Amino acid sequence: MKLLYVTGCLGFIGSYFTRKALQRGWQVFGVDKKTYAANEKLLEEFFAYPTFAFEEADIKDLDHLYDCDYVVNFAAESHVDNSIVSSDEFMNSNILGVKNLLDLIRYKNKNAGRRPTFFQISTDEVYGDLGEGYHLETDMLKPSNPYSASKAAADMLVTAWSRTYDLDYLMLRPTNNYGIGQYPEKLIPIAVKSLMRERKISLHNQGTPVRNWLHADDTAAAAILLIEKGIKNEIFNVAGGYEQTNADTVRKILLQYFGKEVDLLDYVNSSDDRDGQDMRYALDDSKLRSLRWLPLKDFDTEIVSIVKYYKDNFIW
Ligand code: NAD
Repeated sequence: MKLLYVTGCLGFIGSYFTRKALQRGWQVFGVDKKTYAANEKLLEEFFAYPTFAFEEADIKDLDHLYDCDYVVNFAAESHVDNSIVSSDEFMNSNILGVKNLLDLIRYKNKNAGRRPTFFQISTDEVYGDLGEGYHLETDMLKPSNPYSASKAAADMLVTAWSRTYDLDYLMLRPTNNYGIGQYPEKLIPIAVKSLMRERKISLHNQGTPVRNWLHADDTAAAAILLIEKGIKNEIFNVAGGYEQTNADTVRKILLQYFGKEVDLLDYVNSSDDRDGQDMRYALDDSKLRSLRWLPLKDFDTEIVSIVKYYKDNFIW
């Protein structure tokens, strides 16, 4: 049986991971600050497992870690647009929060074998964008906005703490995640919410940026696989290979929402460009695939039930 701390367990991807870990019979000590992005209703589901415990806390202020094998860190401020408006919370949670977790591990007695592995959930955004080709795990980090800069800083803290203090770590860099349970600020749920409110969908840079879509269940499965294989001190990209422009993503949402083809231009507002916009993220995830990870969810199939879900379940 594994003992895990899972921070950000009430957030979007963290909840998929927590569910999978509990289903395996692992002990999960969830930590979440319950920001606007947290879904508190998940606690009812998770507490149905006797192997779940929870503490409402900010990872930056946590002052104790119980015995565990891994600290899996999903906790973060995660929305780029918010970071452009005000970045303080991004620096607090995404950088200082990670430093605090690393220090808590560092102060654990290494000789008694009590130090857990720190598992950082990073992002494809740390590499910045690229026109052609795919980023490898060894590529230089060139973040473009306050969110991705805070995540890149955290990645560097992890590898620096590992080298200086001899900590074990793992790092996963996922592309854009989709699925049910995402806070309506991200493209798919906010598009559906805008349609429900008869408002235009805001599409930055004429919808030309390209994103790679990966289901949160596939991301969670990748993280579980790395733990099950006992891999340490490695970084893994996870992408899935499904690339499309944001305009195409919205076209597919419109098709599901209305049940017929409609004119994109009637439903979007493309007058704004995002400051520091990254035009294309693309990852080479062959390192992870060599461990026999494969994405199981297909975007074009999943989008049908996802749009229906957000339409039937209004989220404030
Ligand atoms: P989310 O915003 O849905 O959830 C984040 C969770 O963390 C929330 O429950 C929130 O309450 C909690 N949290 C935030 N700050 C905290 C703090 N200081 N202390 C404790 N809890 C805190 O995020 P998500 O989309 O599930 O992303 C999870 C991780 O995956 C993040 O690290 C993010 O950078 C990374 N990521 C996300 C995506 C994506 O497409 N969503 C893609 C790549 C990487």
